[in-house]
Amino acid sequence: RTHFLSLSLQAKMSRPVQARRLEGIDKNIWVDFVKLAATYAKVNLGQGFPDFPPPDFLKEAFVRSLSGQNHMLHQYTRAFGHPPLVKILAQFFGKLLGRDLDPMTDVMVTVGAYQALFCCFQAFVDEGDEVIIIEPFFDCYEPMVKMAGGTPVFVPLRPKAPKDGKLMSSADWQLDPAELTSKFSKRTKAIVLNSPNNPLGKVFSRGELELIADLCVKHDVLCISDEVYEWLVYDGKEHVRIASLPGMWDRTVIIGSAGKTFSATGWKVGWTVGPSRLLQHLHTVHQNSVYHCATVAQEVVAQGFQRELELYGKPESYFIQLPKELQQKRDWLVQSLDAVGMKPIVPEGTYFLVADISEFKSDVPDVPNSDEPYDSRFAKWMVKNKGLAAIPLSAFYSGPHKNNYNHFIRFCFAKEDATLKAANDILQKWKREKSSP
Ligand code: PMP
Repeated sequence: RTHFLSLSLQAKMSRPVQARRLEGIDKNIWVDFVKLAATYAKVNLGQGFPDFPPPDFLKEAFVRSLSGQNHMLHQYTRAFGHPPLVKILAQFFGKLLGRDLDPMTDVMVTVGAYQALFCCFQAFVDEGDEVIIIEPFFDCYEPMVKMAGGTPVFVPLRPKAPKDGKLMSSADWQLDPAELTSKFSKRTKAIVLNSPNNPLGKVFSRGELELIADLCVKHDVLCISDEVYEWLVYDGKEHVRIASLPGMWDRTVIIGSAGKTFSATGWKVGWTVGPSRLLQHLHTVHQNSVYHCATVAQEVVAQGFQRELELYGKPESYFIQLPKELQQKRDWLVQSLDAVGMKPIVPEGTYFLVADISEFKSDVPDVPNSDEPYDSRFAKWMVKNKGLAAIPLSAFYSGPHKNNYNHFIRFCFAKEDATLKAANDILQKWKREKSSP
């Protein structure tokens, strides 16, 4: 017993254990909000995932692949992507981009888009390099740049007031060209583009992308193009791939996600598409960290893309059907929020919608000089008191900018109609209580 005690005392270390690269990035809002939702939410429109199943053809392919004759699907596969998956991705994206892609060098499969992003920052960003990030942004970009030793440089989308009586659209949030231009310098290594954008649902127009592309070419900057919501575009809007603009293929890595594409976020299959000159360095990060992603999941995603290639542009295509269904859900949530006075910003894409909570401030009074942005306290209060989970917009801003737009919350509408109806019931009841004190 004495021996055991002395060993456990010895095990306590007095030197600092945390690597310097982790300083200041240990907080993660998802940990807090996922826990709050799990504890209190009756209706969870917080984190971005569907509560409906992936399409039957994909679930059936999974079962077939798991229980079929090819037991090698339970073993390791090629590190940079299961051959059937990289082949079909090369074919599919080759068609979209109008160029021949080599499946072995121009495509790499990752553990979700998340690991694709991590590979990009580790592969391209050095100490002292600057990376331009457009606010509001998917929150992991900032810590990932910092972990690589880089400096994030933020440029905001600025809202313009909508025309009288109209709801605001995500298209009303725009970059100021002069401000964007001023962020590019000799130190700029890369810009992260996320179109369609999480959290606003903004789909960057061709003109906006041309401005970004011109600056990238002029300053010899890389573009990390997070296109995980590429199929979720509404009202006949076009998703323009920045890699297809002049001078951009050679400097762009396209990032995609089967989780978002096929409504199967738990499978964690993602990919990168780009020139081998760039992807070879992603290989280096990938082979020295994750090595590869689950073989069966890759096999099934390959079958999903095979089907989609055959049905491309046809009404039966999942890439046509999913946005059609989601557009209806979006319209429904827009109406529901508008009716209670939580002004929605109508998204052109993604399955997120940001709404203005100003009219609800009387229920959750502001605390002057609080460290925590108002929207974050509001979202916590809402899930605890109303059972409805959403994510504060400030979570998508960098530290010093968290109070710039702090009276908005983000809802995810990739949900069963019953879930959206339950959210509507909560909002309606809340509204009634407000008007009859
Ligand atoms: N990029 C964006 C913009 C996202 O919203 C997400 C998921 N919320 C990801 C990347 C990560 O995708 P995956 O689940 O495939 O890792």
